[in-house]
Amino acid sequence: MPYRAPVADIRFLLDHVAGFPELAATARFAEATPDLTAAILDGAGRLCEEVMAPLQRVGDLHPARLENGIVRTPPGFAEGWRAIAQGGWIGLAAPTRHGGMGLPQTLAMAVTEMMSGACLALQIAPLLTQGQIEALSHHASDALKALYLPKLISGEWSGTMNLTEPQAGSDVGAVRTVAVPKGDGTYAITGQKIFISWADSEFIGNVVHLVLARLPDAPPGTRGISLFLVPRNIPDASGDPGARNSLRVVSLEHKLGLHGSPTAMMDYDGATGWLVGEPHRGMAAMFTMMNNARLGVGMQGIGVAEAAFQQALAYARERRQGATPQGGAIIGHADIRRMLAAMRAEIFAARAIALSCAVAIDMADATEQADWAARAAFLTPIAKAHGTDTGVEVASAGVQVHGGMGFVEQTGAAQYLRDVRVTPIYEGTNGIQALDLVGRKLADGGEAAWRLLEEIEQGAEAARALLPEPAGDVWAAAETLRETTEWMLTQDQTDRFAGAVPFLRAWARVLGGHVHLAAARAEGGAGPRTALARVFVARLLPEHVALLAQARAGAAGLYALSDDDLAA
Ligand SMILES: Cc1cc2nc3c(=O)[nH]c(=O)nc-3n(C[C@H](O)[C@H](O)[C@H](O)COP(=O)(O)OP(=O)(O)OC[C@H]3O[C@@H](n4cnc5c(N)ncnc54)[C@H](O)[C@@H]3O)c2cc1C
Repeated sequence: MPYRAPVADIRFLLDHVAGFPELAATARFAEATPDLTAAILDGAGRLCEEVMAPLQRVGDLHPARLENGIVRTPPGFAEGWRAIAQGGWIGLAAPTRHGGMGLPQTLAMAVTEMMSGACLALQIAPLLTQGQIEALSHHASDALKALYLPKLISGEWSGTMNLTEPQAGSDVGAVRTVAVPKGDGTYAITGQKIFISWADSEFIGNVVHLVLARLPDAPPGTRGISLFLVPRNIPDASGDPGARNSLRVVSLEHKLGLHGSPTAMMDYDGATGWLVGEPHRGMAAMFTMMNNARLGVGMQGIGVAEAAFQQALAYARERRQGATPQGGAIIGHADIRRMLAAMRAEIFAARAIALSCAVAIDMADATEQADWAARAAFLTPIAKAHGTDTGVEVASAGVQVHGGMGFVEQTGAAQYLRDVRVTPIYEGTNGIQALDLVGRKLADGGEAAWRLLEEIEQGAEAARALLPEPAGDVWAAAETLRETTEWMLTQDQTDRFAGAVPFLRAWARVLGGHVHLAAARAEGGAGPRTALARVFVARLLPEHVALLAQARAGAAGLYALSDDDLAA
């Protein structure tokens, strides 16, 4: 079943649930008219269906490989990248003064979702380049911006993100790569990085690495890390790729999935780099890139979920097995219908949460109001973790719907599961996202959380006349969530951390109920979106009760089992 870009669902959510009309009414984003938004989504949808989706299986069957020091990508990926670049898709939300379109991140995120559903392994390349554009726009010197941004935005060059080292994964503060001033304003970068996505390719004019490293006088930990721009080829006087820099791809990883995307070990051997932002303030600069990428990775999960769902639905409509109440194909079996309905309801909720997060990011930009920034910050770890968990769960359910044909490779159902499995791991594991939620994101005393809970309860009140039962359930769920959020604020760090993941998941459940209710209201309380909302509220929302019980269970019980007890 060929991938179909979910343009209609995205449009509906933007217009009726995520608050896009309010965003388009700001002076900053006045250009994002309904006509332009429709043209952008339709155009991106076509590119995804016609150019990117045919590359999905190719990437799996012809993995990226290293050949005499050159990274060779799967057949068709070069043309795919060029189509993305020439369509202007990389610079959709990039600054206009450097050649971007200056449109809302929300639209760029919607496009990210569709591209990920079409071909995740290729989509990572523009995602990282966009993150780099964002980081350079905010933190680089004017000279670096003028030289690099136009080429990154046009897709002539691509960008990477180099944080991870063998001893520095989640603990980025353990980075050992060093940067020594050369006395001419540049730095010599030496060290080893691992797991670097799209570190090189045979078809890109130049690859620009953003590298975390330590200056000689750096204090230990994250407060001593600086950010450097290190190009594969040092630009010459006219800005074209010049002499080769002292860096190389040592090897490519063999992975569970995502075979089309090269994941490299990199060696920097006194490579020339330029400081981005202030010395020792590299994490702050990198966070600009990571926040963008976190939401983008959430979108990746949702995109793959959508593609896996479409394929499972098509299979369920064709496959005949056993007698169903309606006769016909397996879609008539209650259990298959349960899975398909839950998959669709879950995708709808995750997409709405992620788009609401994107709108909050844009509103913060457009209005410079702290409330919007706090809302965006609170929703980002939820959108990342829940979007990617949804990717894995829906792709796994997709395999289940296929039965044995899901476990063999020719249907492609298994590839979705293998490919998406990394999304809860990279860009900060989902465990780390949850720690961020119960740590930094509640550090303001829960201001953003209380505002969201108020909004959920107001939404439920407004829906009560039209949809009394689901509205009552969502309202009650918000109250239960409020109690546990209050509890979280009074606990010590170990107990908060022990409950962080179920707490984040419970938030996603309750927000899911809220966005489904809003969609059902927009439809007048009758129709397919209302039926889907009822499925979510009846079958998925109740999970918040068990999740919140886990969230409040504390750490003592976990540590009562010693390391040896676990091994016994
Ligand atoms: C395909 C792929 C592509 C990647 N692309 C890039 C890239 O382009 N650039 C880049 O820099 N990196 C990249 N990465 C690296 C990725 O970001 C890391 O794998 C990730 O941050 C986790 O680090 P780790 O693998 O060292 O795991 P670890 O940090 O060792 O984590 C192991 C487990 O311990 C948990 N854990 C760790 N610390 C804590 C804590 N404090 N509290 C609670 N639990 C904790 C984690 O959640 C995880 O479950 C990529 C990885 C993969 C697999």
